[in-house]
Amino acid sequence: MNQANNNQDDIFKYAEFMDFGDIHIKTDPETQLQAIIAIHNTNLGPSLGGCRCVHYESSFAAIRDAMRLAQGMSYKAAISGLSQGGGKSVIMRPTEIHDREAYFESFGQFVDQLGGRYTTAVDSGTGVADMDVIARKTKHVVSTSNGLGGKGDPSPFTAHGVLLGLKAGVEHRLKRTDLEGVHVAIQGAGHVAYYLAKELHEQGARLTICSNKDKDAQRIVDEFSGTVVSKEAIYDVDCDVFAPCALGGIVNLDTVKRLKASVIAGAANNQLSNNAIGDSLRDKNILYAPDYVINAGGLIHVSVDDIKDIKEKVEKIYDTTKEVFSRADKAARSSGYIADEISQERIRNAV
Ligand code: NAD
Repeated sequence: MNQANNNQDDIFKYAEFMDFGDIHIKTDPETQLQAIIAIHNTNLGPSLGGCRCVHYESSFAAIRDAMRLAQGMSYKAAISGLSQGGGKSVIMRPTEIHDREAYFESFGQFVDQLGGRYTTAVDSGTGVADMDVIARKTKHVVSTSNGLGGKGDPSPFTAHGVLLGLKAGVEHRLKRTDLEGVHVAIQGAGHVAYYLAKELHEQGARLTICSNKDKDAQRIVDEFSGTVVSKEAIYDVDCDVFAPCALGGIVNLDTVKRLKASVIAGAANNQLSNNAIGDSLRDKNILYAPDYVINAGGLIHVSVDDIKDIKEKVEKIYDTTKEVFSRADKAARSSGYIADEISQERIRNAV
């Protein structure tokens, strides 16, 4: 994903380049809603993806973001073996939302107009309470509160999948099947980081952790032991595994020179600033567990009904990650390209 391309100013060329799909736009002057729903692909099933409500510099930036994220959801669903397509919605957040309920009711109507081709969920800038409001207008919404038939926080499932992907990386690169004494540097101390730290601690790993809110990192260390470092120092930690669990784009030309880990495995979406960074990681002999392969636990949790099936699909993340690594070795290519290829193959074969 995040391929380099020269078509970002021509939406139709960009759509062709991204293998789209359709893009829907809604404006509602009454509530100030300006929203985009991008449906990348529905070969495997109706599309599912979060609703992001953040500030954008321009409508083009918002559309491109929706498209890029929707493609990512298609790939994540495909590689996880889900009967689900990829979509995403983006709301151009105004400086102030005057009536949040009316705003999200209007968005719910927009989702409903697509008749189930797209189901929405929580993402940056939206919360469970917003999903409950959306649910007044459409049934095509997940991650509502438990009281409204939602399933609650997906983070423990995401964290467990990340742990499995991390273990696959440790086995592949460090030739170890256990995590006793393996040093993991976690970036971020939010929902997923908390559960990941818990599982790592239980398996004997050594933790270093940072956050932009030091008290959150300290809370995790108090509970599970480890060391807190500043958010800048995390890139220089002499560790075995770097686990990005905060932001996208943090593995870039600057940080790749600093990283000392043998394996990168974390929850954050779009960790690499672009796919070419995957080649730099390969050159440095750093094994990258592709983000959307190992952070799919949250998506699996919202898109599969039966808890036994959810657990089985999350456990499969280990084998899928290993398959990506061995195909990457055989092809002498970076793991990110191989994950994209496997996903594209599954989407094509579903027709
Ligand atoms: P979260 O908001 O609970 O946690 C992110 C944490 O990162 C916050 O606590 C924030 O304070 C911290 N942070 C922000 N900037 C930072 C910086 N520069 N350095 C260090 N810490 C910083 O989010 P989450 O639900 O734990 O998700 C973490 C990441 O995983 C996100 O990128 C998210 O998109 C991705 N993800 C989450 C899920 C899920 O189930 N929650 C599923 C798939 C992917």
